[in-house]
Amino acid sequence: MLPTHMKAASENLSTVGRLLVAEREADLWEEETDTLPASLAKSRRTYKAFADQFIRPRSLNVDMDLAGFDPVPLLKESGKRGFQTQFMIWPWGNASVRNIFAAPSLIFPTLLRAEEFCAACGGLGLLLLAHDLGIAPLFLSGTWTGFKWFRKVYSKIRAGEKCVAAFAITEPNAGSDVEETEGAVRARIVTRARKTDGGYILNGSKCFISDGGIADYVTLFAALENQGVESWTCFLVESSMKGYSVGRKEKKMGQKAADASELILEDVFVPEDHRIGEEKSGWALNRNVLNYSRPAVAAIALGIARGALERCMEFCRNTRLGSKRLVDYQDVQIELAEMTIQLMAARALTWYCGRYRLPSQGISSAAKVFAGDAAFSICNKAMELMGDHGYLHGHGVEKAMRDSRLNQIYEGTNQINRLALIEDAWETDFAKA
Ligand SMILES: Cc1cc2nc3c(=O)[nH]c(=O)nc-3n(C[C@H](O)[C@H](O)[C@H](O)COP(=O)(O)OP(=O)(O)OC[C@H]3O[C@@H](n4cnc5c(N)ncnc54)[C@H](O)[C@@H]3O)c2cc1C
Repeated sequence: MLPTHMKAASENLSTVGRLLVAEREADLWEEETDTLPASLAKSRRTYKAFADQFIRPRSLNVDMDLAGFDPVPLLKESGKRGFQTQFMIWPWGNASVRNIFAAPSLIFPTLLRAEEFCAACGGLGLLLLAHDLGIAPLFLSGTWTGFKWFRKVYSKIRAGEKCVAAFAITEPNAGSDVEETEGAVRARIVTRARKTDGGYILNGSKCFISDGGIADYVTLFAALENQGVESWTCFLVESSMKGYSVGRKEKKMGQKAADASELILEDVFVPEDHRIGEEKSGWALNRNVLNYSRPAVAAIALGIARGALERCMEFCRNTRLGSKRLVDYQDVQIELAEMTIQLMAARALTWYCGRYRLPSQGISSAAKVFAGDAAFSICNKAMELMGDHGYLHGHGVEKAMRDSRLNQIYEGTNQINRLALIEDAWETDFAKA
């Protein structure tokens, strides 16, 4: 690369001139970490250390042998460190109340955690992170009932028990439809809640629910009897409730360590105090949960892509082609630079979401789309550079590519997220008078 005498040229600048030059002293990860407020920088280091110790070593084995995998010890390790209760506001969790009222947003630690966990393994990362999505309606409903359940989840995790929440909106005939307003009007919702003495009777089914097979609690959305999605109401369903069962577990292409399961409801009685928010508040609540969770999906993509890039760089440093290492060829450098730029841009947009006090629909969707597409492209380029080695399981890059593909689908496909951005800024920008 740059000859040493050219690199040292800044020594010929004046003292003041030298002070104005940014000299690289640390690697990119350290440099970015230093741009964060001190508490977030400290958290980022903690997440990385956890991921390196508990997630990375298990990643490839779990991907190959799901049958032999028990998720509970990892969930408990994460819970012990407060990571499974981090999105929960004090005194019902670890998050600072200050972050509801001032930037950086409450989701910023989740964004950092998602990147670090998923750089080590997309599947194990999702296994730990889907819980945040499950508990989000409890907090975002802004109700005492929600906080009451928050407290219960918090106490269980603090006591060292396994406690997982899942989030269930998708149904066999309603995927994108329940992620996008126009589609929702026509959605064919089958999961229904019928009012009865002291509560509701729920019937129907949900599908593709992440962590659904291991969840103790599910924040589940149902329409009221004989009404459409405008009547959507959120309920906290406990896995121990009579009539609740887990159906088919999908065979996934990637992020395999987190199950995607069908949930079946047959005359499940859900008491009144399990209704999260008012009747018919479900649609608005769902929209806001997605605003909070889509940046986290962007961060999952970012992590998976970073993992692939790191593995690819290591390969390029350690592999010789002819008389040189792969990394010494300029066309390889140009590819690595392009991947790094895509990663930097995706991170900038993802962290931008975290720098808002409240995550908003357009920006959250923009980050989700950009990071998801960038991640797939980065993983693909990594495979290209590594040739036949990239295709082998042992290097982790083909797994990263499989893992990254999901980020373009869940929490609304990237097409739906583009529409969400338009919807958000329709009146203010796109179609303003
Ligand atoms: C592994 C996995 C985990 C998941 N986890 C969860 C979970 O935890 N909780 C949960 O509730 N859901 C979950 N989902 C569901 C996920 O959010 C939906 O699959 C996703 O929203 C897409 O819906 P769909 O599969 O029904 O696609 P469809 O709606 O059938 O879409 C098919 C195609 O049509 C396109 N399309 C649809 N409508 C439009 C439109 N108006 N304009 C342009 N294009 C359109 C889509 O972009 C897509 O390309 C998960 C899914 C998977 C695969």
